[in-house]
Amino acid sequence: MKYTYNSYHGGGTHQAKLPYAGAKHLVVAGALCANADCDAGESPEKVLTVAGVKGTFAREHDSVSCEVGCLACGKTIGEVIAKGSTIFGLEEDAAVAQRCRVY
Ligand SMILES: [Zn+2]
Repeated sequence: MKYTYNSYHGGGTHQAKLPYAGAKHLVVAGALCANADCDAGESPEKVLTVAGVKGTFAREHDSVSCEVGCLACGKTIGEVIAKGSTIFGLEEDAAVAQRCRVY
């Protein structure tokens, strides 16, 4: 799966990565949190981490997307689109859906 993060607040588009297999959140390297009071993403030690906001999961033919919130401050700051082959089939799809519902 390939994860793309789109900021809702002019922060652009960034690649997002699973920090480890089965993680419930994604790491967005090089992006800042859209909340001015939040320091997530300002240094390599404080990378922006996001997780899906409940109830915003959507699906297209080859991708799934959901609104995401910053784990540091809890604000909804953008969306993540997960796109890729279905080599892992329904199990991987279900994992993505779960990730999008956890927050
Ligand atoms: Zn934040």
